[in-house]
Amino acid sequence: MNRMEERSSEMIRIDGSEGEGGGQVLRTALSLSMATGRGFKIHGIRAGRSKPGLMRQHLTAVQAAARICGARVKGDVPGSSELEFIPGPLSGGVHSFAVGTAGSAMLVFQTIALPLALHGKASQVTITGGTHNPGAPPFEFVAECWLPLVRRMGFKISLSLDRPGYYPAGGGRIQFQIEPHKTLSPLELMDGRAARVVRAEAVVNNLPASIAGRQLSIISRRLELDEDRLNPVVTDSADGPGNFVSVRMSTNSGAAMESGFGTRGVSAEKVAEKICDAAVRFMSTDVPVGDCLADQLLLPMALSGGGAMRFTATTSHFLTNLQTIRAFIPFEAELQREARLAWRLRAGCPFTVNDCQ
Ligand code: AMP
Repeated sequence: MNRMEERSSEMIRIDGSEGEGGGQVLRTALSLSMATGRGFKIHGIRAGRSKPGLMRQHLTAVQAAARICGARVKGDVPGSSELEFIPGPLSGGVHSFAVGTAGSAMLVFQTIALPLALHGKASQVTITGGTHNPGAPPFEFVAECWLPLVRRMGFKISLSLDRPGYYPAGGGRIQFQIEPHKTLSPLELMDGRAARVVRAEAVVNNLPASIAGRQLSIISRRLELDEDRLNPVVTDSADGPGNFVSVRMSTNSGAAMESGFGTRGVSAEKVAEKICDAAVRFMSTDVPVGDCLADQLLLPMALSGGGAMRFTATTSHFLTNLQTIRAFIPFEAELQREARLAWRLRAGCPFTVNDCQ
């Protein structure tokens, strides 16, 4: 039996309809398949979504992962609800991927960056698509909240935004670089005290400037922010219209963010109020990690040997991601509830960089 056949015979089976039933199940499986060299078969892809199956963003993640590790793939067509992925050896270098729609480039980045960084060779990757999408981490969240923590674990990844891309026009572009490294270490994120708002930003792209002013005046009043902490950005740098509002916070353990998008039929004020509600809720806890960051930290934690965090909620994304990770590697996670909005995770994982291909 050659290496490909050996891998194919120990294929991991995943039911994509379980739990959250979204794209994250597939993306996490791709990342771990690339990192561990283990093949997988998934059915029920995104069965929990209104348009199930592979959309452009998921397909791009599959194709990017396949190109980086020379995988043999079956089922990689639009709308497919089943996929088979048998990875080959990871290869660094220069790559370029295009989602082709406004689908999130950030989610494609999160799928491939960690396994590529484990490979130990330098890489330079460009991804075009959406950078500011509802239901996905916006560029600033990835660059300011997720990536700094991932870098603290030892991953040498740097990320930049060339051009924003909003739903539905897309056309955004990000680039990331990976420097060779060998040592990863588990991170502890336990201290959420000293939570405060650092600044608030309202970006309007190809839309009236007054929208940003109205949103920031609500945020200023609700969160008691002086003018020097308010940042209106009026630009036409992206194709099509877009309105992205964010409240940037910090705690003793790192950065946090609540954000939202201007949406047709929803007043600009309502968008800002909702973000303020979320920021107030986060700052009323003494935990450093919010809902979205928690589910997105599980994969880097698993790849860096474990770690610990206090976070706001065991969301469906969180629990499903944990389950997907455990299908590939022995990620021992101890979960404990401390209060209504405070959970504690302590995790250990014997997987090390040396186990990767
Ligand atoms: P899925 O819905 O399965 O495709 O996964 C979406 C991913 O996007 C999850 O990791 C969410 O935590 C993340 N996400 C969604 N909305 C936000 C947001 N506003 N900020 C940060 N991450 C987000």
